[in-house]
Amino acid sequence: MKVPFLDLKAQYISIKDEVDAAIHNVLDNTAYILGKPVAEFEKAFAEAHSSKHCLGLSSGTDGNHLVLWALGIKPGDEVIIPADTFIATAWGATLCGATPVFVDCEPDSYNMDPKKVEAAITPKTKAIVAVHLYGQPTDMDPIQEIATRHNIHLVEDCAQSHLAEYKGKKTGSLTIAASFSFYPGKNLGAYGESGAVTTSDDDLAIYFKKLREHGSLKKYHHETLGHNYRMEGIQGAVLGVKMKYLNAWTEGRRANAKKYGQLLGGIEQIKLPIEMPYAKHVYHLYVIQTAKRDELSNYLNENGIATGLHYPIPLHLQECFKDLGYKKGDFPVTEQLADNCLSLPMFPELNDDQLSYISETIKKFFN
Ligand SMILES: *Cc1c(COP(=O)(O)O)cnc(C)c1O
Repeated sequence: MKVPFLDLKAQYISIKDEVDAAIHNVLDNTAYILGKPVAEFEKAFAEAHSSKHCLGLSSGTDGNHLVLWALGIKPGDEVIIPADTFIATAWGATLCGATPVFVDCEPDSYNMDPKKVEAAITPKTKAIVAVHLYGQPTDMDPIQEIATRHNIHLVEDCAQSHLAEYKGKKTGSLTIAASFSFYPGKNLGAYGESGAVTTSDDDLAIYFKKLREHGSLKKYHHETLGHNYRMEGIQGAVLGVKMKYLNAWTEGRRANAKKYGQLLGGIEQIKLPIEMPYAKHVYHLYVIQTAKRDELSNYLNENGIATGLHYPIPLHLQECFKDLGYKKGDFPVTEQLADNCLSLPMFPELNDDQLSYISETIKKFFN
């Protein structure tokens, strides 16, 4: 049996007629940039994430940048981010000319460890970016308390946490502003590059809108510096169709995570992901830990099961950040995860036959 890591084709086939019609509608109306389908999607996405505003963007990376840019982060500032995340979280800071300052993660949640945040704060710290990694919300309350006490911004990178909840509240609504990615492989994926920011602050929403479109609200009147970070019409149309299914797909991921838990629960040599008591986890990825990571990964691949590594090199050990002066050993939990983590196939359409084949193959490997 072959099990892909992600099956985007299966999802497309299940909504093909609707998506094709929505795309053709954009072509017929020649609304290639922003336009009605984008505006309708923004409204639906904001509502689903308990936010007053959503602005469709060209990518999640652009969202990471836009959030910090709009909050005034500039050269000389420091921005605290987890060492265990995708590189784009750090680009948010570097594109503003600021310096990323890394913090280790917790072994159970895989997210930034609130107990280690305070030690990273200096007089230059202007913001903290919490990432809800793999779909599990960060423990926000203790971090918000620190941010408030030091009078610095706390924002969210929700690229992997569509519809996830922290203490019953949607990620993307927990802070002044948040960024989302709709990269095709994300829990809500476009058919190209795309992302968004959410906020419930009216002034910030207007500023986002300006920065997204060349610093102008009125064509050719450029009130501030800006950029072109607009969402394409076709992506808005695709996302608008997919939005209707996001809840069901999220529950599908959660059901599959539960089945993995039942099937793999007894295997001593692996540690399964844990849903933290404050979290509604949306399982963008299903990441296990094992000391035999590379051997298990090869064995699964040889048996037709695709796997992933998220993330094999922590940010503080990336070549691009060597000037920041970090070294191996600085963030032991993140480094241990980088060596031991393995992402198993995870998508809503993953079926029971595939799940039992994966778990049988893992059991065979350890026997
Ligand atoms: C995917 C991702 C991004 C970047 O999103 P793009 O849409 O690919 O630019 C940022 N942060 C995290 C945590 C991500 O997983």
